[in-house]
Amino acid sequence: MRMYDITQPIEQYLNVPLECDCGRTHYAPIKAIKIGKGALDALPEYVAKYGYKKPYLLCDPITYKIAGEKCESLLKEKGYNPFVLIIKHLNYNEATLGEIVLNKPDDCDLMIACGTGQITDMLRFSSFKLGLPCFTVATGAPMDGFAASVGIMNVNNLKATMPAHCSEVIIGDTDILKNAPYRMTLAGFGDLIGKLNALNDWHLSAMITGDHYCEKIDRLVSDYVYDVLGKVDRIRNKDPEAIGDILSSLLLTGSSISLYGTSRAVSGAEHHMSHYWEVLGDQRGQQYAMHGEQVAVGTVMALSVAEKLRDRKIDFCEARCKARKFSFTEWENNIQRTYGSAAEAVIELEKKAGKNDVEKRLQHINTIEELWPNIKKLLDGVYPASRLRDLLKSLGCPCDPTDIGITGKILKDTFMVCKETRAIYTLYSLVWDLGLMDEISDEIILKLKEKQYVFDN
Ligand SMILES: [Zn+2]
Ligand SMILES: [Zn+2]
Repeated sequence: MRMYDITQPIEQYLNVPLECDCGRTHYAPIKAIKIGKGALDALPEYVAKYGYKKPYLLCDPITYKIAGEKCESLLKEKGYNPFVLIIKHLNYNEATLGEIVLNKPDDCDLMIACGTGQITDMLRFSSFKLGLPCFTVATGAPMDGFAASVGIMNVNNLKATMPAHCSEVIIGDTDILKNAPYRMTLAGFGDLIGKLNALNDWHLSAMITGDHYCEKIDRLVSDYVYDVLGKVDRIRNKDPEAIGDILSSLLLTGSSISLYGTSRAVSGAEHHMSHYWEVLGDQRGQQYAMHGEQVAVGTVMALSVAEKLRDRKIDFCEARCKARKFSFTEWENNIQRTYGSAAEAVIELEKKAGKNDVEKRLQHINTIEELWPNIKKLLDGVYPASRLRDLLKSLGCPCDPTDIGITGKILKDTFMVCKETRAIYTLYSLVWDLGLMDEISDEIILKLKEKQYVFDN
């Protein structure tokens, strides 16, 4: 089948290979997504439809009450005898995995989890390891990981992304989702609006580095994000349907990772800021905020950087001069200072990716100069940072660094080094290539300080 020209309902993209003009075949190995009022009632039908006999249901004490108990009774009504595990080891580490494996009934042929981030990540990884398919029942929508094909768990006290597989079926019952904490819904919204910058980053990367790019995936993700942006009033009023739409859009954007093959369309500089805060949070033993809240703040910051860049007269000769002066030793010392115990991994990544290679940077500068009118046009079209900030504020979602405890000093480091967490090219790589990140970030931080949107120190 051909990839659609016009954005379709989410079901149209699942479990069907879509040949695209971009030269790739897009495929998301998810069989069904069911979102809506009473969607959970369909669970036994899906179990029957795909021929499973003995489900193994994973919950924690809270999600059991929210959805697990109902899953159990729905399955029993239809003659299934599910084995229910209410997980006791809630650190989602080796002990949790051990508990799941130890309790697995020999005859089970399907695993189902009720919950949000950690438990559904553990589900995709543990079922993959055990060679069993899995279904997800979402009890909230705080991020776009439900549709992922990887699973995150704690290994040796560090968060690790483990190879896993996609859930075959994902269910989001709006009767359940509407009762999820409002903060969780807003975090999901934050993760979703991050795509406003991620898509720009992808486009920039394609222009400057020749990175592969698919216009149809770009438009698909963008359409789903703008759809939710148009429902802000209903989200504020906790309208179950609008909350279901957030989940639906998060599932679509999450599925786009499978559709496209990488997270290019859904994660850029805004996520790199959040990743950097996560690294710092891990080192101080406490996270700053939820993933989606950090992404929301990161997005406002990234859009501000885009606006600063586009309003500038670029001195390309000076950019080349700065590029030639790059010192790896200085860079390394700065990474040691800013990343602490995570520095080694960042330095290793640089050795493989060569993001800061002088020759490569000079080539980028040539391309940027040549394509500057097109780049400027793209930057002219970015979603206005102040409009996004006001919109997030009106919902009660974190939007300023102060809202999540990020100080001016940390924010400065974030602007300067967050691009080092991943190998992909983003707006921040572009600004860094031009030697402007120091200046632009100072201007942004100064403005934030004037308005008291960032702590002084
Ligand atoms: Zn394509
Ligand atoms: Zn995310």
